[in-house]
Amino acid sequence: MADCLFCKIAAGEIPSTKIYEDEAVLAFADIDPQAPFHAIVIPKKHIGSADEITAENSVEVARVFEAIAKIAKQENLEKGYRVVNNCGEDGGQTVHHIHFHLLARRNLAWPPG
Ligand code: AMP
Ligand code: ZN
Repeated sequence: MADCLFCKIAAGEIPSTKIYEDEAVLAFADIDPQAPFHAIVIPKKHIGSADEITAENSVEVARVFEAIAKIAKQENLEKGYRVVNNCGEDGGQTVHHIHFHLLARRNLAWPPG
């Protein structure tokens, strides 16, 4: 997608602090961290939001969750973590390339509010 911030980060056109990468997934540090550990985990292929997941592209989302389990081990998040997806306006989504916030290293409140 030509004008997508996270497609540009995935392509290396905009710099990011890389945490994990494989052929399908990139994880990088959030520029406005909400926890001591806050990664943004994206499929490299553009999917606009959770609302656009289909039988044809859901493998990309599965790859994201496979990566999250690897990142948790890589980053020693043995105390636990939270995975958040914001979808659409009421969900608070500001970047329209599906992404999963991986938050850790503090006690995360529940319900989130
Ligand atoms: P959301 O509100 O769920 O769409 O989340 C978008 C997230 O992307 C926010 O937490 C932002 O801080 C983060 N973000 C925006 N631009 C960048 C960037 N250039 N590098 C890293 N994180 C970013
Ligand atoms: Zn994109």
